[in-house]
Amino acid sequence: MVQKITRLPTEVINKIAAGEVVENPASIVKELIENSLDAQAMRIDIAIEGGGTRFLSIEDDGCGMGQEDAVLSLERHATSKIRTEEDLFSLTTMGFRGEALAAISAVCRFEMRTSDGEIGTRILAEGGVIQNIEPCARNRGTSLIVRDLFFNVPARKKFLKSSSANSAALVRALETIALAHPEVSFSLKSDGKLILNLEPQEQKKRIEALIHSMPHEVKTARLWGLFSSPEDAKVHRRGQYLFINQRPIFSPLISKAVKSGYGTMIAESSYPSFVLFLDIAPEEVDVNVHPQKKEVRFSDEAKIFRQVERAVASAFQTPAPCFSRSLSFAPPAFSLNDVPSPSFQKVEVSTQPSFDFAMAVRPLAIVEGYFFVQTEELLLVDLTRAYARVLYESLKNKREAIQSLMWPIEVAIEDENLIKELQEFGIECRLIGKKTLAVDALPSLLNQDSFFDFLNAWREGKKLDGTACFVASKGKKKFNIDEATLLFRQLLQCQESLYDPSGKRIWQKLDKDLLKTILEDA
Ligand code: ADP
Ligand code: MG
Repeated sequence: MVQKITRLPTEVINKIAAGEVVENPASIVKELIENSLDAQAMRIDIAIEGGGTRFLSIEDDGCGMGQEDAVLSLERHATSKIRTEEDLFSLTTMGFRGEALAAISAVCRFEMRTSDGEIGTRILAEGGVIQNIEPCARNRGTSLIVRDLFFNVPARKKFLKSSSANSAALVRALETIALAHPEVSFSLKSDGKLILNLEPQEQKKRIEALIHSMPHEVKTARLWGLFSSPEDAKVHRRGQYLFINQRPIFSPLISKAVKSGYGTMIAESSYPSFVLFLDIAPEEVDVNVHPQKKEVRFSDEAKIFRQVERAVASAFQTPAPCFSRSLSFAPPAFSLNDVPSPSFQKVEVSTQPSFDFAMAVRPLAIVEGYFFVQTEELLLVDLTRAYARVLYESLKNKREAIQSLMWPIEVAIEDENLIKELQEFGIECRLIGKKTLAVDALPSLLNQDSFFDFLNAWREGKKLDGTACFVASKGKKKFNIDEATLLFRQLLQCQESLYDPSGKRIWQKLDKDLLKTILEDA
């Protein structure tokens, strides 16, 4: 048998391409709305029947097309949005592949009515083949109708979900875009019923109209978002909307970063709701990964993660990493291990020790750095020594939760080996240029000041035990009663809890004999 290579007919090529772009009515609506937005539409009206597979129409009041462009727009790789390869890197419009109309019209009975304000054109196509082109009356703008989706691709048709699942997905797609374009009116009718009707409104109002309350706001130069209260966390991620450079994007990384920003305010198994807009320089993000442009790739995932996490944490007025936070009863439960970034994977992060809350610990008083606490016995604890011990063990075992810093600490260094040594203690740092150390995150028992004490002692050649004692006695942290209680519980988790790293006694039982001698000596 002689095998012969033939070129596929255009309709077949477009049908194949449709496999990527056209998944269901929701993905069609997304592409078509994006086209309308690119055409500067201020009003977009959508109607569907049977979940959008039987009938789907979209009308806009955008710039429309003249007859020649209208015909061209149905051809694959016909686009008005890029002309050169360089344009690919400076995209401001949503669509850019010139693929959607060709692909969509290849798998349905398609009708377009469009006008650039001068002449109106009506085009009918079936399975990607143009049947008829004629002038028509229309105001400036474009109307598209998609009938009998996949009528000519039975295999795809079989895989379409139920009409209710299709309309739910479509509503979600529409709402997502509407969130990012509050200046545009949107309406949606399903089987004749008006489901959604949005007039132009302020961004926050639009968000409130579409999603329930989001009381926490975060704004930085490149990030704006509203976040739900921790107690409104859900068991699914449907309340999460992310936009990168105005495009709706799905990003498990960002979702995780937001959650991490909530710290332990929400349970491990639930998710906060948010609407988050990020502006990222085009060279730091690649939107071309996914044919539907739903996913992105970041050039520096760890950095994006940190920025988002930090910003979200600030919305809840989480203080900058400092000792007192680390001694709250809610140790931050970071689980950065599964962040797909090599630099994060290396950091062995665990939550703070699981305290034995079964043991009764009744804090009584703090007097000049001494802590009176009632357990089974009455104890007197030297808090500075206790801190030295807890710090020593947690750095040694690298078991402290780490806290990202708002701004990296930069220090001039002589010896690059220092970086590896610090990393060994769970201090997240890197080299900038040849001689600058940048610290991005610290174990939560260290704050900025105590870190410098730590660094000085370490560079002087002290060992970890001496360094921990130095940091503790230099800092002379003032503890409140909650902090002292937590520190004491952490101490109980230490391998050695009676002596500090220099061998000094941390606590003493205040039993009858001791009390007696104290009084008698006095
Ligand atoms: P892309 O959006 O990637 O350019 P499409 O196949 O989605 O590719 O659209 C092809 C072209 O058709 C667009 O570049 C645009 O010029 C034109 N077009 C599509 N939809 C509209 C619309 N609603 N209003 C005006 N022009 C449109
Ligand atoms: Mg498009």
